[in-house]
Amino acid sequence: LTTLLASLPPSSTYFSLEFFPPKTQAGFTNLQARLARMTTAFRPLFVTVTWGAGGSTSTKSLELAEVCQRQLGVPTVLHLTCTNMTQRIIDEALEECRGAGIRNILALRGDPPREEYKDPVTESSPKQTPAEEEDFVWAVDLVKYIRRKHGDYFCIGVAGYPEGHADESHPEAGKQNVEQDLPYLAEKTKAGADFIMTQLTYDADAYQRYEERLRDYVDQDSNEKIFKNIPIIPGLMPIQSYQIVRRITKLSHAKIPEDISTRIEAVKNDDEEVKKVGVEIISELVDKIRGLPQPVGLPRGLHFYTLNLEKSVAFILERCGLLPSLTGPDSPTTSDDSDVAVE
Ligand code: FAD
Repeated sequence: LTTLLASLPPSSTYFSLEFFPPKTQAGFTNLQARLARMTTAFRPLFVTVTWGAGGSTSTKSLELAEVCQRQLGVPTVLHLTCTNMTQRIIDEALEECRGAGIRNILALRGDPPREEYKDPVTESSPKQTPAEEEDFVWAVDLVKYIRRKHGDYFCIGVAGYPEGHADESHPEAGKQNVEQDLPYLAEKTKAGADFIMTQLTYDADAYQRYEERLRDYVDQDSNEKIFKNIPIIPGLMPIQSYQIVRRITKLSHAKIPEDISTRIEAVKNDDEEVKKVGVEIISELVDKIRGLPQPVGLPRGLHFYTLNLEKSVAFILERCGLLPSLTGPDSPTTSDDSDVAVE
């Protein structure tokens, strides 16, 4: 991605799309068709494929990432978590990526199973790490490990949290605020991260404050503004239903600003209206984010958590003028199955 980003015109906007591996073979087949359609018509700069914590989806995630990279020819980022994972699974995943031509990893800690929500430093983990194996506790351990084992082969992304981190391993109401998280984000960046991708947000003001804080942040050790020029890609989730938005914002601790909440509440019993209003809300959010100042020469990125769905993203991209062209064989026509859940 680093090379790809450097090749974009400085004032341009690019976007990426996130997918998760479906559980069933039928779901996988359906998603493949949808992916082919979406990547051809929308032309995302890259796609990302999620990874189940603890490696629970490792085979399926790798299979899906390989389809994206190899068959569809779209630069692909594989999410990779490290907590509660053996070094062997991580080594295999990285080797498979190399074999498939995947050169981008989003390096994450992942969430430990609920009973493990304790201070990972002071309390022993149920995972017994053999003496010769790497002990991955935080995402920074994974960033360091990838750099040590694979040099600059991979472009590495790490997670950022514009509204703080919902983390039950932190004693204070299960939440780590932005300020507390910044030194750790700095550690990940110094260890070799190339870009930051954020937790979803619906709050343009909170996002703006976050970017400004990062750009101005002075690292204690180096005394440098280490986030000054790093790509920060905001995570945006189209509003697919009233229930989903409520559940996700609770899980992620993302706040829904009052004006947005009022607009969704007003139509909450009509699924189609929720989606329609949702498209307006996210399009406005995109416009606001695109209007924020960027470091000179850095194009503006946007990351859409698609939930494997097509229509809302299509409408948002169209409204925001982010589709490559509106006519011709690659036009962004969505198919009839484009809003059927693919699980
Ligand atoms: P870290 O950077 O390790 O941080 C975790 C928490 O610990 C933070 O609160 C941080 O401030 C704190 N911390 C870090 N280092 C230290 C230290 N040395 N001492 C004390 N505290 C410390 N999860 C999945 O399972 N699969 C996915 O595919 C996935 N994709 C994601 C994509 C994005 C864009 C984002 C934002 C999150 C994603 N997640 C995914 C969720 C992520 O795994 C969780 O949010 C997880 O709880 C934290 O991961 P992290 O990489 O931010 O961890």
